[in-house]
Amino acid sequence: MRSFDVCIIGSGPGGFAAAMRCVDFGMDVCIVEARHVGGSGVMNGALTSKTMWELSKDYATASRVDRGYRAAKLTVEYNEVRKTIIKAAKEKQYQMMSQIETFAPGKTEKGSVVFIHGFARFIDSGSVEVDKEDGSAETVKASNFIVATGSRPRHVSGIVVDQEMILDSDGILNLKEFPDRMIIIGGGIVGCEFATIFSNFKQTDTHLLDMAERILPFEDEDVSRFISGNLEKNGVTIHHKARLRTIKKHNDHLDVIIDYEDGHTDVIEVDVALLSIGRINNTEGYGLEKLGIERNERNDLIIDEKCNCVNNIYAVGDVSGRSGLVNIAEMEGRYAAKAIADKTVYPLDYTNMSTIMFFNPEIAAVGLNELRCQQRKIPYRVAYYSNSLVNRAMAMRAIDGFVKILVNEKGEFLGMRAAGPQASACTLSFAQLMDQNKTIDEVMKTVHPHPSITEGIQECLRVLESKSIYKPEAFPEQIKVRSWKPGE
Ligand SMILES: Cc1cc2nc3c(=O)[nH]c(=O)nc-3n(C[C@H](O)[C@H](O)[C@H](O)COP(=O)(O)OP(=O)(O)OC[C@H]3O[C@@H](n4cnc5c(N)ncnc54)[C@H](O)[C@@H]3O)c2cc1C
Repeated sequence: MRSFDVCIIGSGPGGFAAAMRCVDFGMDVCIVEARHVGGSGVMNGALTSKTMWELSKDYATASRVDRGYRAAKLTVEYNEVRKTIIKAAKEKQYQMMSQIETFAPGKTEKGSVVFIHGFARFIDSGSVEVDKEDGSAETVKASNFIVATGSRPRHVSGIVVDQEMILDSDGILNLKEFPDRMIIIGGGIVGCEFATIFSNFKQTDTHLLDMAERILPFEDEDVSRFISGNLEKNGVTIHHKARLRTIKKHNDHLDVIIDYEDGHTDVIEVDVALLSIGRINNTEGYGLEKLGIERNERNDLIIDEKCNCVNNIYAVGDVSGRSGLVNIAEMEGRYAAKAIADKTVYPLDYTNMSTIMFFNPEIAAVGLNELRCQQRKIPYRVAYYSNSLVNRAMAMRAIDGFVKILVNEKGEFLGMRAAGPQASACTLSFAQLMDQNKTIDEVMKTVHPHPSITEGIQECLRVLESKSIYKPEAFPEQIKVRSWKPGE
């Protein structure tokens, strides 16, 4: 029986980041992973879907005919795309495994890592049994455990996901070819990303089913309309206020039965249906119940401010329910390692986390939007500046985008939404300004280089101060500014 300072269950972004930080603190660590190294941060998740998105974006750009060039005989095959995606994922997995081997016991003066492939089950609060692929089992003892078991796609009762014709995000790479017709069930971020990807490749007639009146209802109405307008421009048919009743499977096609809020029903024939209706945490089947670990009604493991569940058991990443993002899983994993080493100085801070939505074009977000400010009754001023006035975006022939910045009455930043090329980089630099509690006046001292996409941010800030070079009076659709107070 092997003994470690820390045993980490799950090698996704949360588990891996935790392991490497434990090594920094000189601890001997064991990672137990049941499936893919890297979890959904790598395979069937963030890295594979982003590789697919990048390839689809390149293909969409190459197939444009409005830029002075015209690619002759541009073709794409799913199998080749699939191989490229798997290559990217494997590269990352080999980097992770190489690092784990670099820190094998006795190899360095820091801590060490051992990787065990198998499914871990708690025996008690000091040991797990690992069922390995070859049928053998090993008991692993540890002083501390970090549960980083992540999440899996949610399914609909009565619909069997065969990962051939009816898929979830784990089955996308099972496709043998681009389907002629596809329906994506669920208008959340992942559903919209796959709708963007398949419509970018232009091989698939893509439908998107959304229960709400507008997709991504947590975003401001103008942002959500911008996203759905672009999906439709890309060729996606969006079914709003539509609920999936069932899917009837035939040998060569699927009949998807959709009930609309107004009472009528449609049957759509497709080749493939992709279920994208959210994820559920992996909290069952590995003995958490016997350790007295609590879950809330959403099945999130309840953690305290140090990512601790009970005594020597910590939980990080999707399973903690704080957010389904790689960056947050890593942040929590690193923090849990620090907590075990008793080295925490600052509390975990989830504010000003920037996120990226991989649509056409990309959209990035940090802080509050108008909707949130109104819900929280925070008075704000907001300015919107279109990329159609930004020279760099004009040069890129990519003017579809904007910057939208919110400030409070003192001129402190509340949040930003950016769409268009480099939106993610712009939002990150904005998140740093927010973290440093900068005000609009302080930030405006910095003159942005020309031509840069961030000149849109510079102008948007000037709009808030009525100092912009281009004026809302001349471009009322491209430049907008307004204020809101509770009661309005
Ligand atoms: C299609 C898709 C696209 C995404 N895109 C993005 C994106 O662009 N940006 C972003 O930030 N996030 C994205 N995400 C979310 C991101 O992948 C997750 O938030 C992140 O991977 C969570 O990390 P984690 O460590 O909590 O868990 P996971 O990555 O889910 O890893 C958990 C691991 O634990 C293992 N495991 C579970 N139970 C056991 C057990 N009992 N024994 C042993 N091993 C076990 C699992 O096999 C798994 O490998 C995406 C997700 C999906 C599905």
